[in-house]
Amino acid sequence: MNSISNILAAQKSFFKTQKTKDVDYRLSFLKALKVEILANEKTILDALHKDFKKSKFETYLSEFGIVLSELNLAIKNLKKWAKPKRIKASLLTFPSKDFIYQEPFGTVLIIAPWNYPFLLALEPLIMAIAAGNTVVLKPSELTTHTSKVITRIIQNVFPETIATSIEGGVETSTELLSQKWDYIFFTGSTTVGKIVAKAAANHLTPVILELGGKSPCIIDDSVNVKLVARRLVWGKLLNGGQTCIAPDYVISKSNIKKELIQALTAEITKRYGSKPKESADFPRIINQKNTIRLSELLKNSNIIFGGDIDENNCYIAPTLVDEPNLDSALMQEEIFGPILPILTYETKEDIENIIWNLDKPLSLYIFSNQKSFIKEIVKKFSFGGGVVNDTLIHFGNHRLPFGGVGSSGIGKYHGKHGFDTFSNTKPIVKRGNWFDPSFRYAPYKGKIELLKKMLKYLG
Ligand code: NAD
Repeated sequence: MNSISNILAAQKSFFKTQKTKDVDYRLSFLKALKVEILANEKTILDALHKDFKKSKFETYLSEFGIVLSELNLAIKNLKKWAKPKRIKASLLTFPSKDFIYQEPFGTVLIIAPWNYPFLLALEPLIMAIAAGNTVVLKPSELTTHTSKVITRIIQNVFPETIATSIEGGVETSTELLSQKWDYIFFTGSTTVGKIVAKAAANHLTPVILELGGKSPCIIDDSVNVKLVARRLVWGKLLNGGQTCIAPDYVISKSNIKKELIQALTAEITKRYGSKPKESADFPRIINQKNTIRLSELLKNSNIIFGGDIDENNCYIAPTLVDEPNLDSALMQEEIFGPILPILTYETKEDIENIIWNLDKPLSLYIFSNQKSFIKEIVKKFSFGGGVVNDTLIHFGNHRLPFGGVGSSGIGKYHGKHGFDTFSNTKPIVKRGNWFDPSFRYAPYKGKIELLKKMLKYLG
């Protein structure tokens, strides 16, 4: 394999040939990628199962299916998305025709995490290619089977000058980050996000950070508790709780806590049986290190359901924890596993005291039937995105931009927003030559009153 700096140099020089500016050229690769992905469906589903026993259904629902729909969307809309858009001219530019061009940044580095290893590597790759960039992708070193399949798919579809996958861990990532890219797209933890942002700053490279955080789930007493339990358990335990937007903890109105715990317990047992370890649908923790981290989080906590741990087999049972201390690691770190702390509130100040003492979350969920309560929560707290009366599903609408705020991330993507993210928005004014009023030229004497009037009429 060529060295990282050689690959980057080859991609930069290929980008200058202008071939990727041709929309049909990009489309030919997106179509080839679709064929290759469809041909590898079984291999992809098997790889995720080998990596952390993720069921085929969950992989199809939360990775394979979304990648295919993003590909279909890009293939269908690319010509429209890539076309310069005519924008209304201004009195100050008159006479002119004004446009917005979307141009590719150039050579893009994408660093992916392990938790949705296929989706979070392929989705940015698709939109980066659609926007006309060349790509170097580094998939996660923790999902070795999936990363190998991704590398093979990319090798089969793209020449190395357009897209390539470089596997490796921190060392490879560090070497990649030392290079000068035109754009960096990172998905992963907030801790590593800071390392990526610093590396990008060295070259003033624009960067998008898709990070994590502690996403709260607020439940008031106007709800149908059984329905809440159904939707909450689904969102919490999908992918074994290893989802960036998983509800991290619950803040329940205190008068429904008992009923809620009963409903959650019944729901978990209904979905995964009394021995979730034997369920074909319940994934494992990605590795022993993370299993130990999660078991440490449970130490000295008040476990009211679950709590079984098998570190050797990377298993943590779906677990409910009652009223953990707000200073505990469980309430300070992103949990990223099948553990659900349940806190309670009496007043709105109680909710504020919990949420405002933590960083801005990636998501926030509200279960309520009270319009004013929902409105107040949505307005009051800052978070990346959210759902009222369900969990996770905002990820499923490609028309909604997805991403964090503050320490849960910078920048948004999905669908057309992804195409825009990988494009430099370039405004162009085409000035008419038939009229050139002398107003803006010196001498300015006597013109300021007219200028004031003109500025009043600017739309
Ligand atoms: P991670 O930050 O440990 O790793 C992500 C990537 O960064 C990997 O490819 C890894 O090789 C690389 N990396 C790790 N350490 C590095 C270092 N010191 N220098 C340079 N690169 C390094 O994250 P993870 O464990 O793979 O994923 C879990 C985290 O990602 C969670 O915090 C989760 O919330 C977040 N996440 C966010 C989203 C989102 O869309 N916002 C999606 C999935 C996961």
